[in-house]
This record gives sequence, C-alpha cells and structure tokens, in this order.
Amino acid sequence: MSTTKIVIVGSGFAGSVVAEQLARAGHQILVLDQRPHIAGNAYDECDAQGVLIHRYGPHIFHTNAQRVVDYLSRFTDWLPYEHRVLASVEGQLLPIPINQDTINRLYGLNLDEVGIQAYFERVREPRDPIKTSEDVVLNTVGRDLYEKFFRGYTRKQWGLDPSQLNAAVTARIPVRTNRDDRYFNDEFQIMPKDGYTALFQRMLDHPNIHLELNTDFFAIRQQIKAKTIIYTGPIDAYFNYCYGRLPYRSLRFEHEHLPGISRYQPAAVVNYPNDHAYTRITEFKYLTGQQHSHTAIVREYPQAEGDPYYPVPRPENEALYQQYKALAAVERNVFFVGRLAQYRYYNMDQVIAAALKTAERILGSA
Ligand code: FAD
Ligand code: UDP
Repeated sequence: MSTTKIVIVGSGFAGSVVAEQLARAGHQILVLDQRPHIAGNAYDECDAQGVLIHRYGPHIFHTNAQRVVDYLSRFTDWLPYEHRVLASVEGQLLPIPINQDTINRLYGLNLDEVGIQAYFERVREPRDPIKTSEDVVLNTVGRDLYEKFFRGYTRKQWGLDPSQLNAAVTARIPVRTNRDDRYFNDEFQIMPKDGYTALFQRMLDHPNIHLELNTDFFAIRQQIKAKTIIYTGPIDAYFNYCYGRLPYRSLRFEHEHLPGISRYQPAAVVNYPNDHAYTRITEFKYLTGQQHSHTAIVREYPQAEGDPYYPVPRPENEALYQQYKALAAVERNVFFVGRLAQYRYYNMDQVIAAALKTAERILGSA
C-alpha cells in the first residue's frame, strides 16, 4: 500500500470518477473507503426479498450537463424517469413544487395560468434583497403557502428556521403557474438501468484500480506515502477539526419491506411538512422501474448527530469552511473534491462535474 502513488479517500462519485480518469491515464490508484461497499451515498442494493432500494435515501439523477451524461453513459444504460412528489397538507396530497393544481385544490379554486400568476402577485411578500430561504419563498408565494409547505419541512430537515438558511436551499424547489408536476426542470431526467452500484462497479473495474473497503483513512494515514491524495470526506476531519466542527446534517433511514403489497403510495415520494418526525417517505419501485409483487419504502428522520449527509448552507458555516479551504489550498498534493470535502450542497451531477475537473487538473500537473 505504501508504494501506491495516488490514494483516493472515498468511493462515492467524487472518488470513483477521479479514480477512473486517472487509472485510464495509466496511474496506479488505491481507493479507500471506510464503508463495506462502494458508491458512497448513491449505493443501492436488493433487500432480502429482492426489491432494489437506496440505502442512503432516494437518489434521482437529473442534470443539464451533456458532458456528465456522456461520461456516465460509458458505464450504464438509462431508463427515462420523471420524478414526481406529493406533499401531505391539511389532509390532501398535493403536488410539490407548487403549481396550478396545488393552488386550486388547496383553496378550492379553478384558476388558469394567468389566474395563478395574479394569485401569486396578490399574496407574495416582496423581499429585497433575497438572502434567506424564508425570503425566497415569501417573495414568490407568500406566507400561507410558506407556512403550509416550507417552514415545517425546513425546520425538521435542518433543525433551523428557513430565515437561518441561505436562499439557495429552498430555491432548489421551483414554483410553477402551469400544471407541470415534475420535481425537476432539468433536460436529462434518467436513472441508471441496472442501478447505481452496478454503474460504480463498471467505473472501478480497471486493472490500475485497487480497492480497500472497511478502511478508515485516518487509521492508516501515517503509513501512506502517496505522492498525491484525493480526499472526498468531510474537510474538517482532514484537518483534525482544528477550527472547530463544521456542521453537517445527518439522517436516520428507516427502511421497511412491505410483503404482498405492490404499491404503497400514489407517488414516488410523499413529503410531510407538518406531521411526523420524518420528512418524507419514498417508495423505491417508482424510481427504479422494478416490477415486483412486494414493495419497499424508506422514511427519513433528520438528526444532528450521525453520518454527515448534508452541508448546512448558512453564512457562519461558509465562513468556517473558508478557513478550512485556506488550509486545503496550501496542503501540497492533496485535492479536496465532493459534497463533504467542498462543503457544497451538490447533487450527483455537480459532484461528477467537479471530479472530472479535478482529474483534469491532476493530469495537467502530473
Ligand atoms: P459521498 O457519496 O458521501 O462519498 C464519500 C465517501 O467517502 C463515502 O463512501 C465515505 O464512506 C467515504 N469516506 C469519508 N471519510 C472517509 C475516511 N476517513 N476514510 C475512508 N473513507 C471515507 N443527488 C442527486 O443528484 N439526486 C438526488 O436525488 C439526491 N438525493 C439525495 C438524498 C439524500 C438523502 C442524500 C444524503 C444525498 C442525495 N443526493 C442526491 C446527493 C448525492 O448523494 C451526492 O451529491 C453524492 O453522492 C456525493 O458524492 P461524494 O463522492 O461527494 O460523497
Ligand atoms: N423543502 C420544503 N418543503 C418541501 C420540499 C422541500 O420546505 O416539500 C425545502 C427544504 O428546506 C428542503 C429543501 O427545500 O431541505 C430542498 O429540498 P430537496 O427536495 O431538494 O432536498 P433533498 O432531496 O436534497 O433532501
């Protein structure tokens, strides 16, 4: 191990994409992961009865980046999949993102697109500047919809009020005046045909890539004599928390297999903004397209402690991250990439794009 020149910490998208690109260019790569499996949070597997599930919550691929689709298409075929979500509000299951049908069904109206535009114009609370996640929603749809769909969900998900989070968090969810009920606007909305883990297996299947699972980088750090390290774990851990802990939000996933039921709920995901300790329930068969006489669901319970899943986008955390980033910038021959290492609320496609760039930088300087 100590003679391998390039060590990659983490086999999620960030680590695996860099590994694949460098291996293809002829480098010998050692990939470490502390978990017993590859694929990071995108890991999927069949449960005991053969239903394909996502162990770390629903992962839906969507992007506008042709380059990312072209790259991944080397390792997978695709199934078309448009994601749809309902929110449980006042006893109804209503489309989220908020659209024409959400408003008409919630308030018993019959407005057309122009009517919905006028409705938003009447109820919105204009904010200038738009700094927080509260500003974004009040500015577009006003207080009642904010309280019914966003405030409770956000408090539960982040343990913070929307007024304490950057605008970008709730700005992920569009607001529509038409009847489009898709969750995403992106040009490409597709799922890997054989799942994510199979895609990663193909990506990492290269004679130059050596994989060691169940291996914590920090436990063997002193023995590693690599010329180059690509680190995709939490950035504060790399620097031994010298400036204090960067907040990462965690989740507890409660998986359930439902025998003899082929459909549990009327959409892939149902959000619970105002009830229950969980934020949402996902039924995997919608996402995967799998035919099976049973079904499987997962409930997500947000929590402060546990595996780091989300950076928490707010100004004080960004300031702390910038301190760590300054240390990272002077750390010689170590590259920090990915959602945890760059402390960015990245989707998979953004991580893949960042990893491709990192590989280019490394190859350019090698
Ligand atoms: P990760 O996947 O977290 O991989 C990092 C790896 O590094 C892990 O395997 C970890 O075990 C390993 N590691 C960390 N520290 C060490 C160490 N010290 N030693 C060894 N190994 C270490 N994105 C989408 O595009 N669409 C979605 O629908 C979507 N849904 C999501 C739902 C949830 C609940 C979550 C949490 C995320 C979701 N994402 C989604 C985001 C997506 O998971 C990430 O963008 C992507 O997986 C990040 O890849 P990564 O390689 O940066 O990090
Ligand atoms: N959000 C909300 N209500 C919803 C859906 C989303 O308040 O019904 C807010 C919430 O703050 C959430 C953010 O929008 O964390 C982003 O939602 P997304 O579905 O993109 O979250 P992810 O899938 O990344 O957990």
